[in-house]
Amino acid sequence: MTGLRRALLDWYDAHARTLPWRAPPGSTEAIDPYRVWLSEVMLQQTTTVHAAPYFEAFTRRWPTVSDLAAADDADVMSAWAGLGYYARARNLLACARAVAREHGGVFPDTEEGLRALPGLGPYTAAAVAAIAFGRATNVVDGNVERVMSRLFVVETPLPAARPELRSLAASLVADDRPGDWAQALMDLGATVCRPRSPDCPRCPVSGWCAGLASEAPERFPVKAAKAAKPERTGVVWVALDATGRVGLVRRPDKGLLGGMLGLPTAGWGGGEDAPPGSGPWRDAGSVAHVFTHFSLTLEVQVGRDGGDLIWTEAEAARAVLPTVFRKALERALV
Ligand code: SF4
Repeated sequence: MTGLRRALLDWYDAHARTLPWRAPPGSTEAIDPYRVWLSEVMLQQTTTVHAAPYFEAFTRRWPTVSDLAAADDADVMSAWAGLGYYARARNLLACARAVAREHGGVFPDTEEGLRALPGLGPYTAAAVAAIAFGRATNVVDGNVERVMSRLFVVETPLPAARPELRSLAASLVADDRPGDWAQALMDLGATVCRPRSPDCPRCPVSGWCAGLASEAPERFPVKAAKAAKPERTGVVWVALDATGRVGLVRRPDKGLLGGMLGLPTAGWGGGEDAPPGSGPWRDAGSVAHVFTHFSLTLEVQVGRDGGDLIWTEAEAARAVLPTVFRKALERALV
């Protein structure tokens, strides 16, 4: 498989994506593990294009892991709004604080050391160890699973195929340029071996690909039949006062969107039981949002008197609210 490795690394040297957190291929400049870690956490839930401005904003405001560790929780949560999966923002802070407190602001330089940090999972530990510290780790995300399943025509459906895909990926890892290897595979999965339409004529490893030889590479990875997402419904109250402010609540620390500012809601397992204030409330239609584990439809009720809420300018609220509540606010402002 050394020919395959050589071909992919040569392709990476010529075609690596330029990303704000990345050093050019073969770079000898020291790579800041803070930037690698932050980018990998952000990229677990969104695309490079969506994550890039968040990454720039975070690193401008908190240039080092110690700066982030010293930040206010609410500031970090607000800066994270729009990236989704808020538990990750809480884990991000817990990890930064552990690095600052227990490691003097310096990230451990091994996969095991990184794994011991709070909220830092196996994928991120392997990625930071490879990219920032040149360790020959096995960095496997959904992109890499897809590439392996096609290269080696793995017929076992996901998720059962995961151990097999991991061990196939491990068989290609070597001590030579492990960080570039991990990023080359990521780039191949993101730009060439794409989920629906693999661009095989442009692929540097097509000569080794059994999926291409099978003439139906997009059939891989094989997926187990999916259960439909459960559907939940509820009510959201948008209280708008005469000066253009909206009434918000701080959500409980534990649970979905924990610790974030939100609108008062009821009925979907994520909020209060009764409308706030005295209303009166008028029906403004509904908004839908899909979370990881369920789909939610909220009936939007608009009124003036929301009682004892956190009254915030609507524009400022728009900037900090999680997407589901921003949708409801926008519906109310139409
Ligand atoms: Fe993916 Fe096609 Fe390349 Fe195979 S040849 S790895 S299916 S892009």
